[in-house]
Amino acid sequence: MSKIHALSEQLTNIIAAGEVVERPMGVVKELVENSIDANATHIEVMITQGGLESIVVSDDGQGIDPEDVALAFKRHSTSKISHHDDLLKLSTHGFRGEALPSIASVSNCICITNNGESATKAHISYGKTIEIAPTFASKGTTMRIEGLFLKTPARLKHMKSIPYENALILDVMQKFALSYPNIAFSLTIDDKKVLETRGATLEDVIYRIYGKDVAQHTHYFEAVHHDFKVKGVIGAPHLHRASRKDMVVFTNSRMIRSTSMSKAIIEGMASYIPKDRYPFAIVFIEMDQHLLDVNVHPSKWEVRISKEKELQLWLSQTISQVISKKPITKPVVLSPIQSEYHEPLSMINELDHSMIHQSMPSMHSNVMEVKEEKITSQPNEPKRATVLAQLHKKYILASTHEGLIILDQHAAMERIRFEYYLKQYQDTQHMSAKLMPLVIEDPKALLLKDELIQTFSLINIHVEQLHEHALVIREVPSWLTQVNEEEVIQDVVTLLSEGTMRKQDILHRLLATLACHSSIRFNDQLSMAQMQKIVDDLFLCDQPYHCPHGRPTMMNVTLETLYKEFGR
Ligand code: ADP
Ligand code: MG
Repeated sequence: MSKIHALSEQLTNIIAAGEVVERPMGVVKELVENSIDANATHIEVMITQGGLESIVVSDDGQGIDPEDVALAFKRHSTSKISHHDDLLKLSTHGFRGEALPSIASVSNCICITNNGESATKAHISYGKTIEIAPTFASKGTTMRIEGLFLKTPARLKHMKSIPYENALILDVMQKFALSYPNIAFSLTIDDKKVLETRGATLEDVIYRIYGKDVAQHTHYFEAVHHDFKVKGVIGAPHLHRASRKDMVVFTNSRMIRSTSMSKAIIEGMASYIPKDRYPFAIVFIEMDQHLLDVNVHPSKWEVRISKEKELQLWLSQTISQVISKKPITKPVVLSPIQSEYHEPLSMINELDHSMIHQSMPSMHSNVMEVKEEKITSQPNEPKRATVLAQLHKKYILASTHEGLIILDQHAAMERIRFEYYLKQYQDTQHMSAKLMPLVIEDPKALLLKDELIQTFSLINIHVEQLHEHALVIREVPSWLTQVNEEEVIQDVVTLLSEGTMRKQDILHRLLATLACHSSIRFNDQLSMAQMQKIVDDLFLCDQPYHCPHGRPTMMNVTLETLYKEFGR
């Protein structure tokens, strides 16, 4: 008896679904792409229970003709291409004709569509057609997906928490909104509207997604090469992020994941941000369709770009030119010095030194508040390294009895601040409160509310729900100074939404994040006194040689090496 047989259509669709729609976010992506391909101007998405209970995508696009509805749910049926040549000049997101049959094979799917003349309803449940019949509806298409993966338990097992799935969906919707600012998008998760754009400009979308601080500190750019065009926005260096998440790249309006394009952005910004941090950048690359192969993976996240190396180099040079012409430090808002408040270093130069009279008694005292006369009275004078100069506003050169040490100023300061925060965390008597109502409206933070509350409670920061669309922090421990709380929250949200914060690492990551945000940066000009304070404080740390992320804080060149190299 023959052992080989063709698989049933239902089974091939389920297999395809594994690649096309790995998780609820994939379903949302495919359905919204169909709405965009149908020239919709309004696209509304509603999610319940991370998309596992239901996903509804409604659009006002051109709809599906009644005679095509059944076909739309058949594998490899598409209205978007007909000939091989069409693959070389694709202008639509879809072309494989796989999404609808795949989705309908792993869910209970109801489609209501109107092409402007007549309306049709199709009900397909886990691959079986239940009904296709005329109905009433306004122009456009509504796809309702229920009970996703309910009958494919292996797939269901891959799902992470509901907030995590929600965060992925929000992320993909934000990318659609960025690449199609002219379309009005809305996303409602469990009855809460978490994204709403008006179909206006990119500036408007950036403001709505990332908020005022980002919107005010982004630089728009455009450049042309003989094969490529690029435009987009780069965030000022201080907007650096904990992960690659806010480096968003589109090729011919498709969101893609591309290691080489991410590298180009990172390289372009390399001189301006710390090594283990990532730039904020939204980059739209346009090229002739002949140079772009999108038929690489069913979910279409990956593409093949001809002349990719050339593009990578040009993009990185373009970004580096753009950023080199912009002011690179964050404008500082002056506020009066209070008794236990310690001003950021960047402000010290601008302030009357007579105002700086506070000093913290702790051994990891605040490096920001430098008193010139203190330097001459350091107790550990045999151990001391004496600062010689600052190199390129990035490194501190200091002489020791063994030779020369070169310190990475940001890494050194991170170590000092990290140990300072660790000590404060362990030493609960410093827990009096500093009042600072801070309202958090970031939709991603709201989705991850419970995780956020738990994480911040570790360091006695109490996050509460203010109202449906906002959380609030009313007070922070008084030792938590110099930190830009909004940046820290943004980082923690990013780490939580990526699932990269392991429970056992949370406290370390949180303290490292605080340390990073309260440290002087690469490219901050320092006075001799400030540098000496950093060096002295670093040598008082328990682990002076590495920053909290494990990178070295200093290098040394011994006198012996110098004698040898100079042939003495
Ligand atoms: P593809 O997008 O690759 O063509 P799909 O399975 O996603 O394949 O969709 C099949 C077909 O159904 C599309 O080619 C299109 O003609 C039609 N279709 C799907 N969604 C919509 C929609 N929202 N509006 C209009 N037509 C749609
Ligand atoms: Mg499609």
